[in-house]
Amino acid sequence: MNSILALIVLIAIVAVGTPIIRNMVGAGNLRCTRCDGTGQVNEKWPDPTEPGGWHKVEGICPKCKGKGRIRAR
Ligand SMILES: [Zn+2]
Repeated sequence: MNSILALIVLIAIVAVGTPIIRNMVGAGNLRCTRCDGTGQVNEKWPDPTEPGGWHKVEGICPKCKGKGRIRAR
């Protein structure tokens, strides 16, 4: 019976500790939603506010500057 209780406690520690450790390692960074974490974008769509009438971004993602991750806070 005691070993089952120990197992439950261990699972609880892992369940609580894993998100905390992940938070510390990730330092509050989230995957960039614009390039989906790749750091590269290939965007093209009609946009009357842009010169030439087209929105065009190719290469380094302007949102995360090619890092693929953005600060959550
Ligand atoms: Zn990005």
